[in-house]
Parts: sequence; structure tokens; C-alpha cells
Amino acid sequence: MFGLIGHLTSLEHAQSVADDLGYPEYANQGLDFWCAAPPQIVDDFHVTSITGQTITGKYIESCFLPEMLSNRWVKSAIRKVLNAMALAQKSDINITALGGFSSIIFEEFNLKDNRQVRNIELDFGRFTTGNTHTAYVICTQVQTLADKMGIDLAQSTVVVCGATGDIGSAVCRWLNEKTDTKELICVARNQERLQSLQEELGRGKILPLEEALPLADIIVWVASMPKGVEIDPDKLKRPCLIIDGGYPKNLGTVLNAPDVSVIKGGIVEHSLDIDWKIMKIVNMDIPSRQMFACFAEAILLELEGWQTNFSWGRNQISVSKMEQIGAASRKHGFQPLLF
Ligand code: NDP
Repeated sequence: MFGLIGHLTSLEHAQSVADDLGYPEYANQGLDFWCAAPPQIVDDFHVTSITGQTITGKYIESCFLPEMLSNRWVKSAIRKVLNAMALAQKSDINITALGGFSSIIFEEFNLKDNRQVRNIELDFGRFTTGNTHTAYVICTQVQTLADKMGIDLAQSTVVVCGATGDIGSAVCRWLNEKTDTKELICVARNQERLQSLQEELGRGKILPLEEALPLADIIVWVASMPKGVEIDPDKLKRPCLIIDGGYPKNLGTVLNAPDVSVIKGGIVEHSLDIDWKIMKIVNMDIPSRQMFACFAEAILLELEGWQTNFSWGRNQISVSKMEQIGAASRKHGFQPLLF
């Protein structure tokens, strides 16, 4: 059995779907209440691969909300992730994906030092961040969609916003090794980390966001922003392909401008329907088939019998592991979202 630990995108989102999650009493409650709420298993389902193999899964709602990352609530955010992991382990789940901010909180606050959660000693081998598959899916989206839009990577500038992150650095490695991308621009706040990425890659320009965006033929957004930012479409090149892989989305509003295509990044579509309700709650366009690539990684690990923390730690994702999980993804009937 595999598990998915997820969370909603904001307090407003949480209040609007409390009924669908099965706890209507939360609908009118503020952040304090969500901080106190325990994790819950809110969905049980089956996934069938195109190979014919069927596995079972559970979705655990951690009740974490991005608003909790403001200082006052950080302890709650940490507790949410650890409690959700303990619930997954107690429920005998073999491999569980830490979706969205769960893995970011785990890394940012060094939760590997917090193994003991009440009477449960967490076994980190039973969890994965899912970031290897997410990075693979985003890179496939870049290459396939650029081709569809007539953007030649060999003549193009790709801006990666969140380049020093776990997913961002993997995307940079792939673009560097597997494509002939002309120019790679890395955006993040911490200059030291940007410089060590540049050293590792042996290339990559470092620029602030406002200078980088007007140069981009392709923008990959994978920054850990609790809220999206607004950008002025008039400052973008045309055509421009934007792949927004953030959860919550890095872009605050959908850009409606000619020749600017914004695609949901890190989302896959399965070839067969899944009997879950959770992807409707998180607003997937085709909820019976679409999901976050990190969740799909837990499914792939369970299907392949690789019940191990395939994606773990920060900035360790190699191109060969992306190829490995990519091959499993295609084998079992997953495709990156391409429209
Ligand atoms: P990390 O924490 O590893 O990296 C985040 C990156 O964003 C860092 O480079 C960080 O650098 C940068 N960043 C943060 N804030 C800003 C800012 N204001 N401006 C510019 N850069 C910023 O995160 P992950 O790689 O694990 O995740 C990235 C995103 O992908 C998140 O939104 C996450 O929720 C989402 N995600 C999506 C998945 C999917 O399946 N679609 C799966 C997993 C994650 P610095 O701090 O120096 O600025």
C-alpha cells in the first residue's frame, strides 16, 4: 500500500472544501483551529497500471496550510508534517509521498533529527519527497511544449526560478546534460547557493527575477512561495512558455496574453481512471486521472516494488535517477500534462 501526504493551498481553500473532506465542522474555523486539527486519512483508493497491476493507496490530509509558515505558526507546521508521517507509518503504508510543502518543511527545519513522534519511531526509508519524478515531468514538459510552440532550445534562454531548490537544481542538471539549451539563467535569493550551483553546472547566469524574466523564452517556476507573485505580461518575450510547478502556484493570476502559454508544471495524467475524490478537492481539471507528479512517484515506487526513499535530502537528484523514474512512469501509463 502507498500513501500520499497532502495539504490545501490556503485557509480560504481549506474552509471551502472542509465539507468535501468529510469534516464540515472545520468550514467556519480560522487558522487557530486548523493548527490544532490532527492529520486524517480522508481517501482510500485503487490505482491500476496499464500493465494490469492494481495497488491500494490512502490520502492523508496533514491540515497544514501555507499561512502557518509565518513565524507565529512554524511549530504547528512542523507538528503537522511529523504527525502525518507518524499516521502513515502507523497505518502500515509501505511508501508515502511528502507532497507540496511537507518535504520543504521536513528539510528546512531539519526534521530528520525528530525521529520520535510519541510512541512511533519514524522510519524515513518509508517516505519519498517525490521530487525526482516531479523534476523529470517538468523537464519533459519543457522539451515537448517548446517543440510544439516552435521554440528551439538551442536558440533559447531558460530561466529557472527556484533554481537552487531540490526540484530546480534537478531541472538545471537535466537541461545542462540532456538538452542543447543556449542560455540558462538561475534565480533564487541566496547568492551562495546560486554560486555553488553555477560551479556544479559549469554554467548558468545568476540574475534577479526582474532582470531575468524579460530575457526568457521559457520560464520554469519551482520556488517555494507560500503565495503566488504577479508578473506583467508586457515585460515578457513573445512567444514565452511558462511552466508553473509550484504548489501553491507561483503565479498569482493566470496570464491571459497572446503567445504567452502558462502550463501547470509537475502534473501527470494517468491512462486509467482512479476511484479517488481528493484530486477534485485540489482542483485538477480531470480529477479521475490527473495528479501531482510527487504523488505519482509513490505510486510508481509501490508498483515497481522499490519501497524506499527514492527521493530524499536536498539537491541530490541525479539525471540517471530522473531517467529511471521516467521509464517507470511511461511503463505504468503516466504522461506529463501537455496543454
Ligand atoms: P526547495 O525548498 O528545495 O527550493 C525552493 C527554491 O525556491 C529555492 O531555490 C529557494 O531559494 C527558492 N525561493 C524561495 N522563495 C523564493 C522567492 N521569493 N524568490 C525566488 N526564489 C525563491 O523546494 P522544492 O524544490 O522541494 O519545491 C519547489 C516547489 O515545487 C514548491 O512550490 C513545491 O510545493 C512544489 N512541488 C510541486 C510538486 C508537484 O508534484 N507538482 C511536488 C513537490 C513540490 P532561496 O531560498 O535562496 O530564494
